[in-house]
Amino acid sequence: MGFNPTTKDLRARGPAQAALHEQAAAAAFPIFGRKVYVRGVVEVSNFCRENCTYCGMRRDNRSLERERAQHDEIAELLIHQRPAAMTDVNLQTGEDPVAARDVVLPLIRTLRRETKLGLSVCLGTLDAEIYEELQAAGATVYILKFESADAADYERWQSPGKLEERLRHIRQLAAAGWKVSSGFIAGLPGQSLEKILANCELAASLPLHGCSVSPFIPGEATPLAAAPAGEVETTLNCMASLRLMRPDWLIPAVSALNIAQADTGYRRGLRAGANVVTINLTPGDLQRDYLLYKRERFIMDEARVLAAIAAEGLEPSRQSMTEQLEQNAAVPIVGPT
Ligand code: SF4
Repeated sequence: MGFNPTTKDLRARGPAQAALHEQAAAAAFPIFGRKVYVRGVVEVSNFCRENCTYCGMRRDNRSLERERAQHDEIAELLIHQRPAAMTDVNLQTGEDPVAARDVVLPLIRTLRRETKLGLSVCLGTLDAEIYEELQAAGATVYILKFESADAADYERWQSPGKLEERLRHIRQLAAAGWKVSSGFIAGLPGQSLEKILANCELAASLPLHGCSVSPFIPGEATPLAAAPAGEVETTLNCMASLRLMRPDWLIPAVSALNIAQADTGYRRGLRAGANVVTINLTPGDLQRDYLLYKRERFIMDEARVLAAIAAEGLEPSRQSMTEQLEQNAAVPIVGPT
């Protein structure tokens, strides 16, 4: 601990920014070496009961074909046809408790039985019983983003439920033994640097094992479609700041970096201290209507992520994130559990 980012760090550009990113990338080496974790993501359902203003999957978007994936199709894909480099999988949905119970839970059971993959889920807030069942079935990482540390903004953007409730779920999941990863959006319309900084500070105060930062992308079919995008530079500086605050964290290079800064954003994320990359394995139909931002998505496949890793002089980990987190268990986690 010891790094307290300031708005000056978030504003850094040119040589000062390069130095910040270099320092951040170096901070991860003692724990992770040059390893980058390659996980697959499968978007299992685009049903969502929530209505976040910044997201194309919001329930008021009637232009989407809503669909849930079939257990057998995804199981076949992940057991027999997954990319060789991938050590972990994240099963992700809109806030859709039906998919969590009927598709994700049986999939976790199947994958635990048939593979050694590290198993993550990103399903929104659910009842305690289903968290327990998912954990008992073999999932170990729960991704629950807090989106914004500012309670008024959280409400303004119609983020899921209340911020306090979201944070309570994060703490409860951690207390129940989940490795929890969170995340926030940088550059929402009107968001000051002070507010962005507060996101970093909140993240560091929570009992987390990882955190993502996504640049705000104005999503089509959302009320923010005409708003300006968040700055990639600020997003990268947030990632570097998080890395310096928590050298032991898993920090993903999110694909939105590439939407915001074609083809180079992702690599710059790795250069700023990110150590997780994600291959999108969602089957075609569902991928088209899993509308976080735009229909034209920049899909990261195995070749692209491996090329980005190699180009930055890094190497794909052979160990799963879950195994690494078990190994890091001796490192104390900051924040109340
Ligand atoms: S951000 Fe998540 S919870 Fe909000 S509308 Fe999109 S999928 Fe639903």
